[in-house]
Amino acid sequence: MTSPTGAGRYAPSPSGDLHLGNLRTAVLAWVLARRSDRAFHLRVEDLDRVREGAEQRQLEDLAAIGIDWDGAVVRQSERGAAHDAALATLTDRGAAFECYCTRREILEAPSAPHAPPGAYPGTCRDLIEEQREAGRARMRELRREPALRLRAETRTWQVHDLWAGQVTGEVDDLVLRRGDGVVAYNLAVVVDDAAAGVDQVVRADDLLSSAPRQAHLAHLLGLPEPSYAHVPLAVNGRGDRLAKRDGAVTLRDRLARGESAAEVTGRIGDSLGLPGCRRAADVLARWDPASLPSEPWVVELPA
Ligand code: GLU
Repeated sequence: MTSPTGAGRYAPSPSGDLHLGNLRTAVLAWVLARRSDRAFHLRVEDLDRVREGAEQRQLEDLAAIGIDWDGAVVRQSERGAAHDAALATLTDRGAAFECYCTRREILEAPSAPHAPPGAYPGTCRDLIEEQREAGRARMRELRREPALRLRAETRTWQVHDLWAGQVTGEVDDLVLRRGDGVVAYNLAVVVDDAAAGVDQVVRADDLLSSAPRQAHLAHLLGLPEPSYAHVPLAVNGRGDRLAKRDGAVTLRDRLARGESAAEVTGRIGDSLGLPGCRRAADVLARWDPASLPSEPWVVELPA
C-alpha cells in the first residue's frame, strides 16, 4: 500500500507500556508525517521481546494522546515471506554469507585495529566449502542455525537526518538472520518500511548509528532510501535512559496517578517549548521542527 505522497511511521516494540519518551517520539513522527501530507503507519516490531497484551495497550495509548494512523497495523511477525525474499535476493547475489561463530568467539577474536569492541572480525566471510560444511556440522551439534551476514562491500554509507544533517556511518558485515533463525531487525525494518511506502523514518536517536547500514541495505535491495529524523531520548534526572524503575514513566502510570491523557500530552508539548497542548494535533498546529532541543529530554517525575 503506497501513498503517492509517501508515508511516515511509528514502529514500537511490544515489550511493555509506552513511556513518555516513546510517546514524545510517536507524536513527533506523527506530526512530521502529517505536516508534510504523508500517510502515517503503525508497525509493531514483534519479532522478539513480546509481552502479552502490550500491543493492544500501546495502540490504545497512542490513540489516547490523539495519534491516528492509516490502514491496518502491520505486525513484523506476519512479514516472514517478504523478509525471506529479501534474504534470498542478497544470497543469490553473493552479498550474504553464513556465519558459524558464537557470540563469545566474536568477542574473543582479535579484531582489526580501530574496530569497535565486539565488531565482527570477518572469520566466516571467505571460507572454502569444506570449512563451511564443518561449520554447519558444528551448528547442528549446537542446535543452532548459521547466522546470515551481509558481505559488506563498503565501509561507510551516508544518510540525511533532519536534525543531524549528513551523517556518515559504518557499514559492516551485519547480521541479516540470527542464529535462532529470526530475521535481524536491520533487515526487517528496511523491507517493511519500503513495502509500506515509508520514505520518512522518525525514531529515537539511539538508532541514528544504525541508519547508514539500513539505508545501505535498502540500496542493495533496490529500494528507495528514506529520509531520517532522529529524536533525542528521554532520560531521568541522572541522565540515564528513561526506564520503568524510574517510577511513573508510562501513560498508564500517569493515568493511575490521576493525570489525564491531555495533561500527559501537555508534558510532551512543554518539552517542545509549547505550553498548553492537550492533543497531538495541538503540537501539529504549533511546532516548528527547527526548534527541537538537541539534548535529551530530562523527564521530571513528581511522585
Ligand atoms: N522498535 C524500535 C523501538 O521501539 C524502533 C525501531 C525503528 O523505529 O526503526 O525502539
